[in-house]
Amino acid sequence: MLSHKTFSHFPSKTHSTLHDLSLQLYTAQQQQWPMLADGVAALQNVQTRSVDCGTFTVRMQYNPKRVVSTGAKVDAASIKERKCFLCVGNLPEEQQGVLYRDRYLVLCNPMPIFREHFTISHIDHIPQSIEEQILVFLALAKDLSPAYSLFYNGPKCGASAPDHMHFQASPAGGIPVEQELPSHLVYASAIGGVSVSTLKQYGRSVIILEGSNVQEMELMFLRLTSAMRRTMKANEEPMMNVIGSYTEGRWKLIVFVRSKHRPNVFFHEGEKKVMISPAAVDVGGLIVTPMEKDFRTTDSTMIASIFREVSVPGETIQRIIESI
Ligand SMILES: [Zn+2]
Repeated sequence: MLSHKTFSHFPSKTHSTLHDLSLQLYTAQQQQWPMLADGVAALQNVQTRSVDCGTFTVRMQYNPKRVVSTGAKVDAASIKERKCFLCVGNLPEEQQGVLYRDRYLVLCNPMPIFREHFTISHIDHIPQSIEEQILVFLALAKDLSPAYSLFYNGPKCGASAPDHMHFQASPAGGIPVEQELPSHLVYASAIGGVSVSTLKQYGRSVIILEGSNVQEMELMFLRLTSAMRRTMKANEEPMMNVIGSYTEGRWKLIVFVRSKHRPNVFFHEGEKKVMISPAAVDVGGLIVTPMEKDFRTTDSTMIASIFREVSVPGETIQRIIESI
């Protein structure tokens, strides 16, 4: 089954880069797989608008095709009942991927938010958890650079398949935080060769790790998640979204520290319901909604309120950093 689903391998005999292989896959799959071709065509017509939130800007995207993902039932019972859509045996007939180091498949997302949008899923049905996979995350970020950034949604704060390990990739710089970060960055400390920073006046709670040595980055990330576990009194993986990139020999991990998945307005009935379900891309500053009403009416006050509600308080970030 896996060989039937393998479009190409990385590393490859031709020494092609992972981003070249992924782009070749994207082009070929649009010819072979009508659902992807439709998704890509629909993306060309999506409406976007910018919302000035004072110290930062948010881009809204009205994308009706995302209704499945935004509205996904991710409670344990619903997940158990449905057929896992990331398991190799359940992938659509036409879908193929780049087999990454024999462990992950780089797949085209048929309901894209970005010009190219990949889901990178483990070949086995193992639960979504970044701590055991952080070395893969760092390797992927490097292998996908400079064309793409990589992101991760925790099982309880944005992953629509919390039971199947996966990452996603998007064009580098396509998530607003990637561009806005330098003007909000506040250096906190450095341990070994890894710097720890936060973002000021950004409306969300964020910790950033930057460094050039993979082992040091792995160690620091695990120290960070331990500190989050202690501070947030979490038994399971602390709630987080992570955006990772690799430029000029350095990794950057942008960690959004979350207190909850969906805001209260998501659960309202009728006109009062706001169909915004924040994951990495949304807290990263590109809010995707499948509803035209929410696209038109969501203003800076609503955005600030949603961000505040789903992020841990600023003092928790300080306590985490002190505890690393
Ligand atoms: Zn699965």
